[in-house]
Amino acid sequence: MTIDWQQETALRQADFITDLKDLLEVASVRDDSKATPDAPLGPGPKDALLKMLAIAERDGFTTKNIDNLVGYIEIGPKDAEEYVAILSHVDVMPAGEGWETDPFTPVVTADKIIARGASDDKGPGMAAYYAFKILSDLKVPLKRRVRLIFGTDEENDWTGMTRYFEVEPAPVFGFSPDAEYPIINGEKGNVQVVLNGEATNGGSVKLVAFESGLRTNMVPGIARATVVTTQSEALVAAFQEFLAANAQISGNVEADGDDVKLVVNGKQVHGAMPETGENAGTYLANFLQDYDFGGTAKSFLTYLGTPAHQDTIGEKFGVNYTDDVMGPLSMNVGIQKFVAGQEAFINFNFRYPKGITPDEIVAGLTAHLDGWDVTPTIGGHAQVPHYVAPTDPIVSTLLRVYHEQTGLPAHDQVIGGGTYGRLMARGVAFGALFPDSPDTMHQVNEFALLNDLYRSIAIYAQGIAEITNLD
Ligand SMILES: [Zn+2]
Repeated sequence: MTIDWQQETALRQADFITDLKDLLEVASVRDDSKATPDAPLGPGPKDALLKMLAIAERDGFTTKNIDNLVGYIEIGPKDAEEYVAILSHVDVMPAGEGWETDPFTPVVTADKIIARGASDDKGPGMAAYYAFKILSDLKVPLKRRVRLIFGTDEENDWTGMTRYFEVEPAPVFGFSPDAEYPIINGEKGNVQVVLNGEATNGGSVKLVAFESGLRTNMVPGIARATVVTTQSEALVAAFQEFLAANAQISGNVEADGDDVKLVVNGKQVHGAMPETGENAGTYLANFLQDYDFGGTAKSFLTYLGTPAHQDTIGEKFGVNYTDDVMGPLSMNVGIQKFVAGQEAFINFNFRYPKGITPDEIVAGLTAHLDGWDVTPTIGGHAQVPHYVAPTDPIVSTLLRVYHEQTGLPAHDQVIGGGTYGRLMARGVAFGALFPDSPDTMHQVNEFALLNDLYRSIAIYAQGIAEITNLD
């Protein structure tokens, strides 16, 4: 049976865009403040899951919803014991500020679709679904079952996908369409380190509030601080000079008597590639740290403004490390918060290769506290480094399919992770970002190139057919 996968994709493009727009319209950001027993992550993630499963049911597929946290669509012979898993997610990052269009009103142009989730991961997930449709419509013979599984909490704690692996039998192998091509067969370890202490003052300048960053896995794009000083005019002038001297950021400042509000705009990017962003928070701390703050405000600003500033490999903390196969450690200072009288809080996200441990990272952060009475602790869900050898047929087959469909060079690679691929011993991430396409995941004005999504449908259809029929 010879199938022209790209021709089959072309026949379904219009339907694909219609379904994708429907899914993108659901603002599926986790919101614990609206959580209920029926919607444990808030209404958005649940509604997006129900929308995706409803599309599949409309088309006659078998589906299952597990506690409104995770669900799947299944194809293949019902009596086959083994199954292959494709792991996607329908939750999205918070939109962030500065969008040119409404993040949850998809805009389709000549060459792209713009919306939060277009590239991470609703576009690629819908591409995998359309691959399922092609395999089903053409009755392509499959030796195993295949499940397309949608999590609802990938951007935070993986609550849904963790539940799936607790209650369902494990797949034999699989991939996650939630990263980039050619393939991701290795992922670094991923750990959050949290500092949480008192927020006090004591100097002639007072830090009322400091806030930057929404998520551990995003480089903060905006930082805001409110300070009180009798020298407000001088502070305003110095801040304007600071902005002028740092062209990579922008900002503004307003003084009302002794109260000064300062804002820094940096560059918000994915926390796995912090070197491509500009951390607004550490810039603002770097500016403020030299003023006469006291109490923990001084420690907080100095820590952020000196060892944590303009360092995305942990060099100043002495935790920089590079592994031959897995590459360098990376560091993102994702959440920075100080509310006088309440708390001082910093959340670091480290992606680390084999050869260095979370305990060694914590020791490096502790060594630079310089008298600040706070203890760094490991928070969130830590992940160890993950690696599938390039000789594994799951890797070599998907790379061959990618090359056949695109003509592009195919090679294995390791990233800062972590994708759902790591949930399977023989799990990888496969697409859907192409090497020469702009990466807008987690950024404002997120988009996916239409041709990239169409190419992915064809790649996934052939790829799923081939790996499902591996010996
Ligand atoms: Zn994702």
